Amino acid sequence: MSELSRTTGEHAGAPLWAEDAPALELPVLRDELTADVCVVGLGGSGLSCVRELRRAGVSVIGVDAGSVGGGAAGRNGGFLLAGIAAFHHDATSVHGRERATRAWRLTLAELERIAGETPEAVRRTGSLRIAIDDEELADCEAQRAAMHVDGLPVERYVGPEGRGLLFPRDASFQPLLRCRMLAREASAAGARLFERSKATRIGEGEVVTAKGRVRAGAIVVAVDGGLERVLPELAERVRTVQLQMLGTAPAADVDYPRPVYSRYGLDYWQQLPDRRIVLGGFRDVGGEEEWTHDARPTPRVQRALEQCLRERVKTRAPITHRWAAPVSFSTDGMPVVEQVRPRVWAAGAYSGTGNVVGALCGRAVAQLVTQGTSDLLL
Ligand SMILES: Cc1cc2nc3c(=O)[nH]c(=O)nc-3n(C[C@H](O)[C@H](O)[C@H](O)COP(=O)(O)OP(=O)(O)OC[C@H]3O[C@@H](n4cnc5c(N)ncnc54)[C@H](O)[C@@H]3O)c2cc1C
Repeated sequence: MSELSRTTGEHAGAPLWAEDAPALELPVLRDELTADVCVVGLGGSGLSCVRELRRAGVSVIGVDAGSVGGGAAGRNGGFLLAGIAAFHHDATSVHGRERATRAWRLTLAELERIAGETPEAVRRTGSLRIAIDDEELADCEAQRAAMHVDGLPVERYVGPEGRGLLFPRDASFQPLLRCRMLAREASAAGARLFERSKATRIGEGEVVTAKGRVRAGAIVVAVDGGLERVLPELAERVRTVQLQMLGTAPAADVDYPRPVYSRYGLDYWQQLPDRRIVLGGFRDVGGEEEWTHDARPTPRVQRALEQCLRERVKTRAPITHRWAAPVSFSTDGMPVVEQVRPRVWAAGAYSGTGNVVGALCGRAVAQLVTQGTSDLLL
C-alpha cells in the first residue's frame, strides 16, 4: 500500500527545508510608499534583483504575495547546476553553440557568486547525471562530447549510482536558508521588504496591494510559477506547471555524496549532510493534471516518487515530508528577461532549472532597469 496516507499531517505540504532555516517575519504593506524600483516576488530571483539594485544605489521596495522563498525558490530540490534547462548538446542545436556556451559560462560564474555570497547555504559537491538505460547513456556521451569541444567542465562517471556524467563544478544548497539570508541582508542594506502583500494591480509606475500601494519609477516582476497570470501578455509563451518532492528521515542505509539526476533530468535526488533524502520528479507521470497553478502533492506523482525512493534510491527511510510548488516553462526553453510594459520588466520562466539561472536573470533585469543594458543576458 502507498505510504501517502501515512506521511505525518504536520509536514504534508511544508518543505523539509523549513526545518533548519531560521524563521523570518516581514511586515504587510499598509501604506503608500515611493521607491526608485518595486520588485514583485521575493524568491531567489527577486532577492538577487533587490541586491543588485541596492548595490547600484537605487531605493527598492519588494513585495511578496506569501512569504520570502515561499514559492519554488524555497521549495525546490536544492541543485545548483550550471547551464540552462536543456543539456548542452540540445541547447547547442536549438540556440547555437555560441549562445549555449555563453549561457553555460555565465551560469557557472553565477554559481560561484552564489557560493561566495551565502557560503553557509552551499555545498560544493559536483553533481551527477546518471543514465537510466543504454539509450540515455549514449545521450550522456553526446552531451559530454559537446561540452568537451566547448571547453566546459564534465567527466565520464561510473560508480555506485550508475553510469553517466560528473559535473565537478556544480553544487547543492539549502534554498530556503539562502532566500532568508538574502532578505535579511537586503533589509539591513535599506531595502523595504513586505510579505503577505500580493500585487493585485501592476500599472505604469504603480503596484497596488490589498492594503497598500507603491509608486516606483520601474517595476520588476520576478515571479517564476504563475508569471503568465501576473503578466497576461506573456501567456502565449509561458505556462505554469507544478513540481513535486518528498523528503525522508535520515537514511543510514544509503550514501549519496552528490546530487543525482536521471531520466533526462526528470527525476532528481540528493542526500543532505544529516543523511535525509530529498527526491523530486515524475512530472510526466502526472500528465496534464500537473499543469496547474494550484500546487499540491498528488497521489499519482507521489506514488511514483515512493517507488523511485524504494527501488532506485534504495532506502527504507520513512517519508516525513511531501510538497509541491509551481514553476513556469517558456516555449523556446530560454528564460523571459525583458520589458513587457512601459516601466514594467519581467524575469521568470526558467523551465524547471531556476536556482542559478534565476539569480542571474534577477541581476540582469536589475542592470536593464538601472543601465538600460546588461552583460548578463543569456
Ligand atoms: C519541486 C521543485 C524542484 C526544483 N528543483 C530545482 C533544482 O534542484 N535546481 C534548480 O535550478 N531549479 C529547481 N527548481 C526550479 C526553481 O526552484 C525555480 O525556477 C526558482 O526557484 C524560481 O525562483 P524565483 O524567485 O524566480 O520564483 P518563485 O520561487 O516562483 O518566487 C516568486 C515569488 O513571487 C511571489 N508572487 C507571485 N505572484 C505574486 C504577486 N501577484 N504579488 C506579489 N508576489 C507574488 C510568490 O509568492 C513567490 O514567493 C525546482 C522547482 C520545484 C518546484
